[in-house]
Amino acid sequence: MIPGTDVLVIGAGVIGSSVALELARSGRSVTVIDKGPAPGAGSTSSSSSIIRFSYSTLDAVLTAWEAAPAWEHWEQHLGVADPDGMCRFLRTGMLLFDSPDFSFTRITDLWDDVGIPYEVLETPEIAARFPQLDLGKYYPPKPVDDPAFADDPNGTLRALTEPDAGFVDDPMLAARNLAYAARHHGATFRFHAEVAGVEIADGRVAGVRLVGGEVLRSPVVVNVGGPHSWRLNEMAGVTEGMRIRTRALRQEVFAATAPAGLALDDGAPVVSDLDIGQYFRPQIGGTVLVGGTEPACDELEWVDDADHYDEHTTVEKFETTMYRLARRVPSFGIPHRPTGLAALYDASDDWVPIYDASDLPGWYMACGTSGNQFKNAPIAGKFLRAIVDAVESGHDHDAEPVRFVGERTGRAIDLGAFSRRRSPASTSGTVMG
Ligand SMILES: Cc1cc2nc3c(=O)[nH]c(=O)nc-3n(C[C@H](O)[C@H](O)[C@H](O)COP(=O)(O)OP(=O)(O)OC[C@H]3O[C@@H](n4cnc5c(N)ncnc54)[C@H](O)[C@@H]3O)c2cc1C
Repeated sequence: MIPGTDVLVIGAGVIGSSVALELARSGRSVTVIDKGPAPGAGSTSSSSSIIRFSYSTLDAVLTAWEAAPAWEHWEQHLGVADPDGMCRFLRTGMLLFDSPDFSFTRITDLWDDVGIPYEVLETPEIAARFPQLDLGKYYPPKPVDDPAFADDPNGTLRALTEPDAGFVDDPMLAARNLAYAARHHGATFRFHAEVAGVEIADGRVAGVRLVGGEVLRSPVVVNVGGPHSWRLNEMAGVTEGMRIRTRALRQEVFAATAPAGLALDDGAPVVSDLDIGQYFRPQIGGTVLVGGTEPACDELEWVDDADHYDEHTTVEKFETTMYRLARRVPSFGIPHRPTGLAALYDASDDWVPIYDASDLPGWYMACGTSGNQFKNAPIAGKFLRAIVDAVESGHDHDAEPVRFVGERTGRAIDLGAFSRRRSPASTSGTVMG
């Protein structure tokens, strides 16, 4: 048994490692435990790691905007350079096509409010900048075997651009970098250590029990278990007090040779295309990464046990993804075989994460990240630190949610927006948040 630690963090993904860094920075002794082999080896390793600011609520937009400078000034954020290499933010900009599923004015009103730069592009301007794209409106997205899939377009598209958007080149390395910085501040990481139970004494958390029986003692435990977070919350007995549920949702993301003109070296942007139900972005090595945006016609694949799901891509998803992309980019050469991955989101009921305490004193959670919180990892660690600081000093965060003042805007983010007890937020109901 290791001696007691001030804080135990369950999960060494990009968010868990960030939580560990910020809690270690606060002067606490921090131990991170993960059943996997390395930082970021869980769902983080499969992330498309897109950084964007297009969300449906003010607090979500502010959060992403406040987190972005950390990616741009990564070493400054970490306070140390990882000798094994540092991930990089690539500022490609993002093109967001018009769709009834995600109102332009709702986003631009929020961007105007926060001061986020953007442009509205009409069809001829998009065509001039990106002649490779077919700008037909095909909404709603359809399965490829639907005869209407081949229908002519019913109009042409407009788009929003986010010039400050982009992606991080290596999501797993981002987690490793955060873990390195956390270690630099004294945090300890233990891998191949699986939490099997939660120790409770005198009405508060007292630590965790690992598979094999070892008990690790701590008065504060943060659940950052990604797609396993609900199971961990069940072990702690806190799910009854949660109004928002989280569930593992299976996803497939494919890589393909970038169509001419849409490679990273061509200056291609990230494209969010709710008109066909896909997003795509360039990546290093002349390829594009293509994933889905949960259009109504695609059945959601909920997974009951995050340790047992089909980790292989399927022909159906591959064909759907590739044919939809070919619709938007007629020059796209559909590959003969799939290259891709299957992974899990930890999706919440409203696609907004939960950064919160719980009904069990000492048990905290950063979960329900809904396929859209990689970008917010640097600030999620700070949110958890602010919540732990406040609640451990006796503050009632449920009654009077902590407000976190962002350094970039000086604006307060209401952390009650990420409460486990919130009424579900009105969002796009998809990974877009
Ligand atoms: C396919 C995909 C694409 C995505 N694309 C984007 C994107 O473009 N932009 C964006 O912002 N976000 C994106 N996301 C979301 C983002 O990647 C996640 O929100 C983020 O990586 C979650 O990090 P985490 O640390 O919370 O969880 P994880 O990385 O899943 O880490 C959780 C860790 O907990 C450990 N664990 C679980 N149970 C136990 C236990 N019982 N005992 C010990 N350890 C345990 C696991 O081993 C794991 O390492 C995407 C996610 C996926 C899956």
